Amino acid sequence: MEENNEGGNLAQVQHVVLILSGKGGVGKSTLTTELALALRHAGKKVGILDVDLCGPSIPRMLSVGKPEVHQCDSGWVPVYTDAQKSLALMSIGFLLEDPDEAVVWRGPKKRVSLIGQFVSDVAWGELDVLLVDTPPGTSDEHLAVLENLKKQHKVDGAILITTPQAVSTGDVRREITFCKKTGLRILGIVENMSGFVCPHCSECSNIFSKGGGEELAKLTGSVYLGSVPLDPLLTTSIEEGKDFIQTFPDSATFSAINSIAQTLLTSIQNP
Ligand code: ADP
Repeated sequence: MEENNEGGNLAQVQHVVLILSGKGGVGKSTLTTELALALRHAGKKVGILDVDLCGPSIPRMLSVGKPEVHQCDSGWVPVYTDAQKSLALMSIGFLLEDPDEAVVWRGPKKRVSLIGQFVSDVAWGELDVLLVDTPPGTSDEHLAVLENLKKQHKVDGAILITTPQAVSTGDVRREITFCKKTGLRILGIVENMSGFVCPHCSECSNIFSKGGGEELAKLTGSVYLGSVPLDPLLTTSIEEGKDFIQTFPDSATFSAINSIAQTLLTSIQNP
């Protein structure tokens, strides 16, 4: 299947979704990982393209380390996290000498051209959904990613991740402007770290204000996909590269992530 490049490497991919955030540290990569796991849990074949140049962290979150990546006639072969090949990952981190090093390709022009090429060069095969974890903010790299994806495939849209405190900042507004200018549909807004789940009694308290994500969705006419609490069990799972959804299937955090994944599926299947 990987050998057939007719129609490009995204020919057999049903939906392409970009994950954006105004700035780093709001949980973009965490939620990309968890949404991929939730979609897989729902029986979908999922791919993650990790082009977060600022810190490609998904290989660590999925516990795949730094495998040697191979090439076939149509490009890089993604790394599968399971024997059923239901979750495929290609990360810019795989191409770095040192996994802790952020990508320092010489010169912005070179960086933009390399990232564009990287986006087109993965032999995904059949996928229901491809999630693209982009760097924080909006930059020429985002444009390069989007343009190169669009050359091969319709991009369904973008999910914006924000925290309750970041909601009113300029970064998020720039994100929305970016989507409007590039004609990228905002599939929805997710408020992450929305309340804190006590590790002892599982009660969720709102340490920061809550509801900003929902307000922002209303303001921009976008769908509010839901909120995910700050859950220490999720932090540990992510740090240890464990599948949170399999480990804590009864937690409120899982049910929040699952519900976001279901709403996303409905939204991309009925544009
Ligand atoms: P970004 O990709 O936006 O830079 P990350 O996904 O790397 O952010 O998340 C930053 C840190 O916050 C990580 O250590 C991650 O484990 C933690 N984190 C993110 N979201 C949550 C959450 N909902 N609950 C607990 N920890 C979280």
